[in-house]
Amino acid sequence: MLGQMMTQHLLISSLIDHAEKYHGETEIWSVNTTGGVEETNWAQVAGNARRLGSVLSALGLEPQARVATLAWNNRRHLETYFGVSGAGLVLHTINPRLFPEQLVYIMNHAEDRVLLLDATFVPLVAPLLPQLETLEHVVLLGPRDGAAAEQIPGLKFYDEWIATGDPEFAWPSFDENTASSMCYTSGTTGHPKGVLYSHRSTMLHSFGSNTRDCIGFSAQDVVLPVVPMFHVNAWGTPYACAMSGSRMVLPGPDLSGEAVVGLIDRHGVTIALGVPTIWQGLLAYARGSNTTLASLERTVIGGSACPPSMIAEFRDTYNVETVHAWGMSEMSPLGTTNVPLAKHAKLPIDEQHRLRENQGRPPYGVEMKIVDDDGDALPNDGETQGDLMVRGHWVLDTYFRKQDENLLQDGWFATGDVATIDPDGYMTIRDRSKDIIKSGGEWISSVELENIAVGHPKLADAAVVGVPHPKWDERPLLVAVSDEGQDPTQDELLAYFDDKIAKWQIPDAVVFVEALPRNATGKVLKRTLRDQFGDALTG
Ligand code: ADP
Repeated sequence: MLGQMMTQHLLISSLIDHAEKYHGETEIWSVNTTGGVEETNWAQVAGNARRLGSVLSALGLEPQARVATLAWNNRRHLETYFGVSGAGLVLHTINPRLFPEQLVYIMNHAEDRVLLLDATFVPLVAPLLPQLETLEHVVLLGPRDGAAAEQIPGLKFYDEWIATGDPEFAWPSFDENTASSMCYTSGTTGHPKGVLYSHRSTMLHSFGSNTRDCIGFSAQDVVLPVVPMFHVNAWGTPYACAMSGSRMVLPGPDLSGEAVVGLIDRHGVTIALGVPTIWQGLLAYARGSNTTLASLERTVIGGSACPPSMIAEFRDTYNVETVHAWGMSEMSPLGTTNVPLAKHAKLPIDEQHRLRENQGRPPYGVEMKIVDDDGDALPNDGETQGDLMVRGHWVLDTYFRKQDENLLQDGWFATGDVATIDPDGYMTIRDRSKDIIKSGGEWISSVELENIAVGHPKLADAAVVGVPHPKWDERPLLVAVSDEGQDPTQDELLAYFDDKIAKWQIPDAVVFVEALPRNATGKVLKRTLRDQFGDALTG
């Protein structure tokens, strides 16, 4: 034997142990579901997580049994992240915006045995209980609540329940490849698919996320995950913050611009993470208020393309750096973040700003390539576009209970996105492959057109879809939502694209709608728009 280093399994329980030991007094502010802000800290979260681990263990569930949550971003939900996975069970975070039928489908498919839910969701779940085939225990994330108890027979109350638990509960030790948590993709087509994360993949994702050029939380940060804890584990924020010992602000149910600005200013938030629609609301509110978002240093924006106008407004008005990020449920979710390279500092400032607009480059742990229809690799020249393929330490191998031998291609996962990659590895999402517009043999990126459209001062929101055209097969149609009190014309909106994009890529027409249809994770439902406006250019 030449010598050896220790082997310790990479377990999520070690994150909360670390946070407790080295950052115990570090504050966590949590907005309660019923209103009001509660202050706690990593030591208290750790104690409650252990109590939860002990009472869950006493239920006698088999290892890796699924424990579901339907909850907002709050401290009890945070405790479940560590208590459930730490005890060797699988935390299944459910998106409450799913249709009830989808909710029943995924809970039965996941074989959820326990459900921990916020008071908000009692009326949603109560009528579905007879259909939830495997569910044995329902726990309200709060104190005793008589009204809720009447709706759900046998309801347990989290606060009372974990009070009977052991604060000294010793986390079990097991193999790091054990499943720790799961999410279902929002499933715009077909049934939602389950992605099962392991302790190992989650830990490596946390290390990757905490590298300086990825998100890189620090013990000096106050972190506000506006992205829900039911949306790909809030992009891994709870784990990464436990690792770095950051302060956290958990915003509860109200994600309005006013509420989020209030939290940022009151608690001195330094990093906030969320999808573009959230920041649209925040910026709209901020413009009419006297906030300067003084404490905010960085926003991490992803989930959909972040419009360049949003990056510019954060930068120029509030001195806030935006890190544009891309990822997906199948990648835990972090795939790329846009942060500069050393050589970029020498470029003219406009060029530096332009380079910050795309989806960025991968941290160590993720590899990317683009391929053609035959699966052959395409050049990384920043212009050639192809199907984006990924592999890495936190990328999906197989979906939950769905053996598909052909899912990976030579060990690479097909993201379903069409992208370009430049020689430095910076990736630009052109479209989801099913949304790209094919006009007369050429491809038009709906994302690029949307990025331009939302910069128009009279628009609140915009989407572009390809609709049938007698001559060109498909042409882009702009679906526009006017800003309050504004009444832009089709001509002025289309003229706005002049000089910003090649003439043949400019949309053919504009339709106005009150609001864009969105799925449970906030993505625009383009299929609905295509169905609705399919005859806009032919009818
Ligand atoms: P689902 O796949 O269930 O809709 P995900 O959150 O996993 O939900 O979505 C992943 C997809 O979201 C990516 O494949 C990509 O199409 C899109 N996406 C995520 N981040 C960005 C981004 N920064 N820019 C453009 N598209 C993005």
